[in-house]
Amino acid sequence: MVVTIANQKGGVGKTTTAINLAAALSLRGKSTLLIDLDPQGNSTLSFVDRETVEFSVYEAFANPDCSLSDVIVPSDRQENLSVVPARISLAKLEARLVGEIDAHFRLKDLLAPLTEKYPYVVIDCPPTLGLLTVNALVASTHLLIPIQSSYFALEGTDDLLETVEKVRARANPALDILGVLITMHDRRTSLGRDIQSEINKVFGAKVFKTIISKNVRLEESPAYRESIFSFAPNSKGASDYYSLCEEVMDRA
Ligand code: ATP
Ligand code: MG
Repeated sequence: MVVTIANQKGGVGKTTTAINLAAALSLRGKSTLLIDLDPQGNSTLSFVDRETVEFSVYEAFANPDCSLSDVIVPSDRQENLSVVPARISLAKLEARLVGEIDAHFRLKDLLAPLTEKYPYVVIDCPPTLGLLTVNALVASTHLLIPIQSSYFALEGTDDLLETVEKVRARANPALDILGVLITMHDRRTSLGRDIQSEINKVFGAKVFKTIISKNVRLEESPAYRESIFSFAPNSKGASDYYSLCEEVMDRA
């Protein structure tokens, strides 16, 4: 399965989910590829050192002689996990591909030879609905939408779903919404519980049973460039993401 983690709203837990879902899958012994499509490169740095990144996904997108295998870096920290790294250069991709007729299909084509080697591919998106996110949606079998348990939780999801419909209409009719994931949830407050029931009302059975609680260890782990499973294996964050991984594997 190729699963895109997308929501154009910033700071909702996309990268945290991409990192820890990819880590959980690889800990389950699944050969996993994490593709970082955010120019900030945050998910890249949780598994590989900046110095080991010679080429990035930008080169694969922009240079017809470059394949995805040329840029993949196996993680030296996590068995069964490889990363397609991003660097800040990715921010100029949109300008570089202007007018290219296959601009939306680049990632799909790049990924095609690798789906057997990596039965699980996880794609971390930037907080936009631009060319990178559309490339991810075109290349994916599934979409996972993280929604932050906060006052404006559902703001912008209409635009995301509209983009999904456009992608389904032509480029990728098979794209399936795997699920909606409630993140940074605080079940002790009535606001938290209200937001949860609002999300359930809108998305029904699409909402994952697993809810990611607000957890300080999850907040800290990126600063130490680790997944939650190596940083704090006994934390609530680790058990939440482990259970998400189970649910993802069941739903796929
Ligand atoms: P962007 O749109 O900028 O790419 P994002 O959607 O990828 O953001 P993250 O970077 O995963 O969001 O998370 C935003 C911030 O919230 C980070 O500082 C992260 O450490 C923190 N965070 C994520 N999940 C949790 C959680 N369950 N509990 C507490 N903090 C969290
Ligand atoms: Mg991010």
